[in-house]
Amino acid sequence: MALIVQKYGGSSLADAGRIKAVAARIVRTRRRGNRVVAVVSAMGDTTDDLVKLARQVTPAPGQRELDMLLTAGERISMSLLAMAIADLGGEAISYTGSQVGIITDARHNRARILEIRAERLKQALDQGKIAIVAGFQGVSLSREVTTLGRGGSDTTAVALAVALEADACEVYSDVAGVYSADPRLVPGARKLPSLSFEEMLELASSGAQVLHPRAAGLAARHRMPVRCLSSFNNDPGTHIGKARRMERVVVRGITHDKSLAMLALSGVPRGGRTATQVVAKLAEREIAIKSFFHGAPGGKRVDLFFVISEADLEPAREVMGRCLGRLKGGRLSVNRRIGSVSLVGSGVGGEAGIIARMLEALAGLRIHVEGLTSSEIKVTCFMDRGATEKAVMKLHKTFIG
Ligand code: ASP
Ligand code: MG
Repeated sequence: MALIVQKYGGSSLADAGRIKAVAARIVRTRRRGNRVVAVVSAMGDTTDDLVKLARQVTPAPGQRELDMLLTAGERISMSLLAMAIADLGGEAISYTGSQVGIITDARHNRARILEIRAERLKQALDQGKIAIVAGFQGVSLSREVTTLGRGGSDTTAVALAVALEADACEVYSDVAGVYSADPRLVPGARKLPSLSFEEMLELASSGAQVLHPRAAGLAARHRMPVRCLSSFNNDPGTHIGKARRMERVVVRGITHDKSLAMLALSGVPRGGRTATQVVAKLAEREIAIKSFFHGAPGGKRVDLFFVISEADLEPAREVMGRCLGRLKGGRLSVNRRIGSVSLVGSGVGGEAGIIARMLEALAGLRIHVEGLTSSEIKVTCFMDRGATEKAVMKLHKTFIG
């Protein structure tokens, strides 16, 4: 008997009708002889609505209470889904993250899973029950309820699949899989039947929204195959697993991200370890740097450029302002209109010709590239975020057709 972990996102559970449809799919999977664990998100926009509600009560909701509030969203969908399954004659039981032993660190709103004590879940499965688990939540060692951060139920699903040594992990949303570009933007975007773990990780972390980057990372690390599919049809979706192509280099997808910001510290004294200090201070605030460039306009001064997520802009500005205060001279400027466009595919970053064609295509659109980074699997250009969409369309035409 195979063990399948299925995850259903908010749009798959948006109303009573959708919940019944998902219940039917789960019961079908069970009746085919599989053991099933279903991880659920909150219904529709419930999580956003709860955040808004909290902000109406106070401009700065406390993190612990916010976790208490947000975990309620998944509790609603898990219990309704268990009821809908019972109504179809299936036997289901719902659990919060804490009840199934999802142990996290103590960081509210962005907890990381430390371990999963899955005995209770295994028992339910041994009794032939369908287990429904609230996604995106856990409990700390000091018994505080935590959440994994927005979009965290994908991570719950992959983590459970790993802990239970599941045979498959299926992530259901309202799109039929991973596409070569955002299909809302590029009408000719193609659905990709399969991707390697590494390709998926790069696609997810550079803007593809089908699978959360943390879940993609977890799947890659544990070699847990994942299938991304739609709960609205029976399309086979995209299978993510071990790489199958040998050394042929192919651009698989083009992603874009419009939520970046660039901070420039210009004219700071050379050799003052400013960059090292700034990076250390940013790390204290848990601000990740997407990219860093060093410009030397000449003389005794240098320019430092940092690309970060726009969500981190205010604390980063504060950190850099303070660093600047300690220096003799220098200026801080902020560009909050930064976006990026990436080509993803195993080997693309090692092909000089691909990078040259990318820059040529962008130059043809008169797009000014602010910076470029590449790895084995990805080439990313930073640019004004207003230009990212036409860049994606052009690059899709150039590399994928
Ligand atoms: N409901 C949570 C959110 O909207 C978790 C999830 O959907 O994965 O962020
Ligand atoms: Mg959600």
